[in-house]
Amino acid sequence: MTHRILILGGTTEARQVAGILSVRSDLAITLSLAGRTENPAAQGVPVRVGGFGGVDGLALYLHETDVDLLIDATHPYAAQISANAAKAARRSGVPIVALKRPGWEPAEGDQWTLVDGVTSSVTALGSAQRRVFLALGRQEITAFEAAPQHHYLIRSVDPVEPRLTVPDATYLLARGPFQEPDEHSLLQEHRIDVVVSKNSGGEATYGKIAAARALGIEVVMIRRPALPDVTSAETVESLAAMVDHFLVGHVLGPAADRGV
Ligand code: NAP
Repeated sequence: MTHRILILGGTTEARQVAGILSVRSDLAITLSLAGRTENPAAQGVPVRVGGFGGVDGLALYLHETDVDLLIDATHPYAAQISANAAKAARRSGVPIVALKRPGWEPAEGDQWTLVDGVTSSVTALGSAQRRVFLALGRQEITAFEAAPQHHYLIRSVDPVEPRLTVPDATYLLARGPFQEPDEHSLLQEHRIDVVVSKNSGGEATYGKIAAARALGIEVVMIRRPALPDVTSAETVESLAAMVDHFLVGHVLGPAADRGV
């Protein structure tokens, strides 16, 4: 019997979970991407791309494709799709498990200013001119047009088009992971005095946080959004180990149905 698993992805971890599970002949894995990145990294399993059309669309997809388990391995800031996934799974009676890597905790020497949302991070930069490293997605940075007095160093996976309507911005194209020594050099080379970052957690993008600490540079840290209350794992390995538990429960039905 083949069990169908839909993984909502767009993260390195989603790709890794897909890789681990795809070697099993009893599982048929599909990975779903939002389609934000022009040339996403190869995923190694069948991929579908694009939104589902809200909760209704996702619930319909789960039903039509006979999904037995939904894995939400989206980015911790992708709050909309996670909320939709929790609702659609409940409505469809499909078990759901989320993979949410833990956020970074401030360490001694960190100078974090905590804010809620990108707009607040713009305000937190203040009115005086500063040299700002924006380590955010290209969809999020337009908010900084409200503060054109700063110099911006903007790093993104895809080109930022159109460019920001600010007079002083430098654009870098790069895909992580980023190592601390390289981030250290980057911050120094561009004479950065503040970094704006999401609390993504994980190793791949921590280098800039560690480099900022070493250089005594402030980090405006955007807090994580609230996420739905679903069973979750913190690591790829622990999530992969939980999969059978959910599949067995789903196939046999809830405990009450089995007279347990
Ligand atoms: P979002 O605000 O939570 O989602 C917006 C809409 O995009 C969703 O309602 C859904 O459209 C569609 N969508 C999102 N993820 C999808 C997926 N994996 N498969 C199919 N449709 C998806 O999410 P976002 O912040 O735009 O992020 C989009 C994707 O980029 C996510 O997969 C996330 O893992 C990845 N990502 C996000 C960040 C970040 O900081 N937000 C960082 C790195 C990677 P419908 O309602 O039409 O289904």
